Amino acid sequence: MSGILFDALVFGPIKSRRLGNSLGLNLLPGDDKVCTFNCVYCECGWGKKPLGTERDFNDTSLVLQALEKRLQDLKSENFPLNSITFAGNGEPTLHPDFPFIVDRVLELRDQYFPKTIITCLSNSSTLENEKIRLALMRLDNPWMKLDAGSQEMFSLINQDFQDLKIENIVENLQKMNGQLSIQTLFLRGFYKGEKIDNTSEKEIGLWLEHLKKINPQKVIIYPIDRATPLSGLEKIDVDELEIIANKIRNAGFKTEMYY
Ligand code: SF4
Repeated sequence: MSGILFDALVFGPIKSRRLGNSLGLNLLPGDDKVCTFNCVYCECGWGKKPLGTERDFNDTSLVLQALEKRLQDLKSENFPLNSITFAGNGEPTLHPDFPFIVDRVLELRDQYFPKTIITCLSNSSTLENEKIRLALMRLDNPWMKLDAGSQEMFSLINQDFQDLKIENIVENLQKMNGQLSIQTLFLRGFYKGEKIDNTSEKEIGLWLEHLKKINPQKVIIYPIDRATPLSGLEKIDVDELEIIANKIRNAGFKTEMYY
């Protein structure tokens, strides 16, 4: 598999445009992507269907030990840490101990960096599981992916392995009671002859209807920024992204655009 993979349990802090100084926490293995999706733009590269066996995940106690050690070091340096971020090689909520890890990370944050937020980048595919949903809602900053308005575009862009229905994803996002942000990548291209375009009037209209149901605190939008596993994808230009941002603002949502 080509693409960028994180081989450390804890990485950074990296300077993130969206999060500031962000310390990454990778619950997934260092040598493979483990995700319910196989997005055409994924910077980790193409993946395969996750097996769900324990060998797919980093050991809980090792992750937490590595995090505590890193937080101790950063505290001794008086480092200005802005976010502890669940990220890395796939979908962090697939880790079987995810709710437990969330609670322990909250404790460590309170102990070492009480003003630092905790972010989770999730693809929104596991919210049917109430324990996962509630764990995400205990975080300051759950950033939930929603890249499409229609089922067809969702399947094309996110290539999910579970045949999820976008209506069910939206229903589950609604259950987060507005305690979330939505993140969306806008792009165009072709996959096996089928047109990918989540920027069309129809797609944006359907997507905005989803947002109205979900009522997120914030909507974060961005274009392709790195090499993608599917070649030929188009980075939409900044003016077009700004037009989309204005549509979101006009629908009443706080919007952040990164280009
Ligand atoms: S959800 Fe994230 S990790 Fe999973 S395939 Fe998509 S971009 Fe990659």
